Amino acid sequence: MSQLNLNTIEEESLRKTFFVQVLLPVPIPKTFTYRVPQKYEEHIQVGIRAIVPFGKKKIITGVISAIHQDAPNDYEAKYLLELLDEYPVVSRQQFQLFEWMSQYYMATEGEVLNVGLPSGLKLSSESKIQLNPAFQLEQSPYIFSQIEEVVINLLKKEGLLSYEQFAEITNTKQTSVLIKDLLKKQVIMLIEQVQERYKPKTEKRLRLQKDWLDKAQLNNLMQQLDKKPKQLDVLLKYLQVVPVFNDSSKNEIGVAKSIFKEEQFSTSSINTLIKNKIFEEYEVITSRLDYLNRQENLDHEITLSPAQEACRDEINTIFAEKDVALLHGITGSGKTEIYLSLIREVIESGSQALFLLPEIAITTQMIQRVRKIFGDQVGIYHSKFSDAERVEVWQGVAEGTINFVIGVRSSILLPFNNLSLIVVDEEHESSYKQYDPAPRYNARDTAVVLANIHKAKLILGSATPSYESYYNAKTGKYGLSVLTERYGEGTMPEIEVIDMRRQKAKKLVKDDYSHSLLAALESEMNKGNQAIIFQNRRGYAPYLQCETCGWISECENCSVSLTYHMHQHELKCHYCGYRQKSPSACLSCESTALVMKGFGTEKIEDDLKLHFPDVKIQRMDRDTTRKKYSYQQIIESFESGETQILIGTQMVTKGLDFENVSLVGIVDADRMMYYPDFRAHERAFQMMLQVSGRAGRSHKKGKVWIQSFQENHPLFNYLLKYDYEGFYELQLQERHSFFYPPFCRLIKIVLKGAQADSVRNGARLLYESLIGKLSSQRVLAPHEPMIAKIRNIYHMEIWIKLEKGYPLESTKSQIKASVNKLQENSQFRKLRVVFDVDPQ
Ligand code: ADP
Ligand code: ZN
Ligand code: ZN
Repeated sequence: MSQLNLNTIEEESLRKTFFVQVLLPVPIPKTFTYRVPQKYEEHIQVGIRAIVPFGKKKIITGVISAIHQDAPNDYEAKYLLELLDEYPVVSRQQFQLFEWMSQYYMATEGEVLNVGLPSGLKLSSESKIQLNPAFQLEQSPYIFSQIEEVVINLLKKEGLLSYEQFAEITNTKQTSVLIKDLLKKQVIMLIEQVQERYKPKTEKRLRLQKDWLDKAQLNNLMQQLDKKPKQLDVLLKYLQVVPVFNDSSKNEIGVAKSIFKEEQFSTSSINTLIKNKIFEEYEVITSRLDYLNRQENLDHEITLSPAQEACRDEINTIFAEKDVALLHGITGSGKTEIYLSLIREVIESGSQALFLLPEIAITTQMIQRVRKIFGDQVGIYHSKFSDAERVEVWQGVAEGTINFVIGVRSSILLPFNNLSLIVVDEEHESSYKQYDPAPRYNARDTAVVLANIHKAKLILGSATPSYESYYNAKTGKYGLSVLTERYGEGTMPEIEVIDMRRQKAKKLVKDDYSHSLLAALESEMNKGNQAIIFQNRRGYAPYLQCETCGWISECENCSVSLTYHMHQHELKCHYCGYRQKSPSACLSCESTALVMKGFGTEKIEDDLKLHFPDVKIQRMDRDTTRKKYSYQQIIESFESGETQILIGTQMVTKGLDFENVSLVGIVDADRMMYYPDFRAHERAFQMMLQVSGRAGRSHKKGKVWIQSFQENHPLFNYLLKYDYEGFYELQLQERHSFFYPPFCRLIKIVLKGAQADSVRNGARLLYESLIGKLSSQRVLAPHEPMIAKIRNIYHMEIWIKLEKGYPLESTKSQIKASVNKLQENSQFRKLRVVFDVDPQ
């Protein structure tokens, strides 16, 4: 301080220099320092976006994360170019969350920002907008020499995007107009491009001028128009949509001009009506969100059953002591109404609430239900929504007009500033975990931290909780509330396991279906009931095999078999998308004895269509739900009863609620149980219980048929009794003896590269370095994952198992240090190394 006082001029100049840290959506583990042009000093705020130069050729948008006066000491900071917001788009709490996520999941904050910000709010370095030639000035003496001195000084002193000043000072000069123009145009274009996506959508409407709003006048008007039938038509149409005769206040709503155009009313008549001051044309801001433009009749009523009410009170009691409550309620127990009733309390008190659902479950049913209760305060955040729609939700949350968000995992990254309650429904779902790109976060676990940052409460709900959450509840870390009865008249369906070995021996199996399953299906169809058939494999047949030489159709790029898709007569790789025409003879020995092995949803669809030619059958899997509304259409058709049999992958296990389903068939239970993963049994049990839960949800009694060649497996003993807890206890012992979660923490390191050798050797070296630091008990030897090659890239994995309480942060630093060391070796520089904390 005393030094500053020595020289007022120096003090003055120092005082004026502001710097900002800008967080950029790039995978570099730091923020960048930029200088603030003087004219922006009073506008800078933490959380607003800035356009900045990045590298020599690019400009990108980032978010200001700090403001200070310390010039970087190892380089000269460039000027930021432009500010994009008047108000923060990233909240203080979000920065905290970003920081935690980047730390915990071993990603950079830029990577977190990148998945968090909808692309409508950012221009990534990928857009490769070149600031040509201005940013290359110093590198390009030729261009440099062409620019006036004044311009050069300005560029050096003021930063590039004082472009208005830039224009002002240089307007009179004739030289390098071209260069200036180029520069100006590019920056302006960029800003417009960014702001365009951010602009509200408007709609032109028509309404009657006030003078005509009384009945006598209106009658008068109609008589006047009697000789101008086209104009009269327009007026009549207007009165049909807006009955101002009955209620003149309705005139305020007006009618969208586009409606008249769509219905081919005469445009010139409309314009005459406007010109003659009969109609008034005006503009309103509308939402990009379809559901917000639809009127719902509000109905705040939520009536809970006594059991639901008790459960809600219990959760409130838990919240007096704990921040997290696990709601273990069987399928159909009515968990949703309990959430909604708790959420309503929060919204009414003026705070925000977040309701997370696994990807697929956001249906029209759900949207209508919450819109009825909460009206326009609801924002829906989903990957199938457009960018502009997502930006609108983002803005609404930041500004506080949206207080209730219902969304998928990325909605935990929205700019809440006043969050009081988070609900994670179906918390066991693995779709809460992001695989690629980094950050590989689990939204359920991140929700715990988000709740903590906001001092909010969290409910985790499931009929089949994850072992991690159940363990936390059993050991008292979370509160536990249990619902053991279905809402209303529903009862849990009876489950029967079909012993496929015996059935096959007795020749009671046709294709892949036992006679009992087919007979039961037939009988339910005759009664007019509906059925769900579950098989966790899409396509027709998982592979094609030659019976003569044993050859199997494999992908050229990946170490997996190609799936046969009958409808396109193609073999497809589900990992890289590779496809080829299905061969008619073996590619190895040319024998024509090719047989399809195993079966997927597509084959089941074909088979059942043969068995039940008069029944409408639909299939729901990744292949049939690629379009925005296709999922919804399938659901609606099943809901209306038009479709009688719905066949599907795990998509049909989640949260669907249909009254008329009396039969659920699980065609191949073994496939799920024998997957090489320590969670396979947990998953299989969850999936079978969840899909069983789709039957018998109303007064109709349901039944579940499970086909297995391993009917003595202990899993079934528990499943038949719906004994979630018993099976959990059994599994927990196994997890304990083999030291798996919830008893340890896992970090998975994946090395990827185009050369199998270098991947293998790199993994070996990394392993040796890691056991030196963490001991050989904690680091498992490198191994090939089940699919060791994808898109011609070889994979090797190293798993790290840490006992609870083992210092995590220092371990992560050690891991990163070992990886950096490995990559210093030129042989391994090209390896990609991926960290996955708490892999699923
Ligand atoms: P869960 O999510 O626990 O499997 P749901 O929330 O889907 O169960 O509820 C099952 C069915 O019962 C749904 O059709 C739902 O609309 C209905 N239901 C649940 N609670 C109520 C309630 N309090 N009032 C009216 N209907 C309810
Ligand atoms: Zn062959
Ligand atoms: Zn492939």
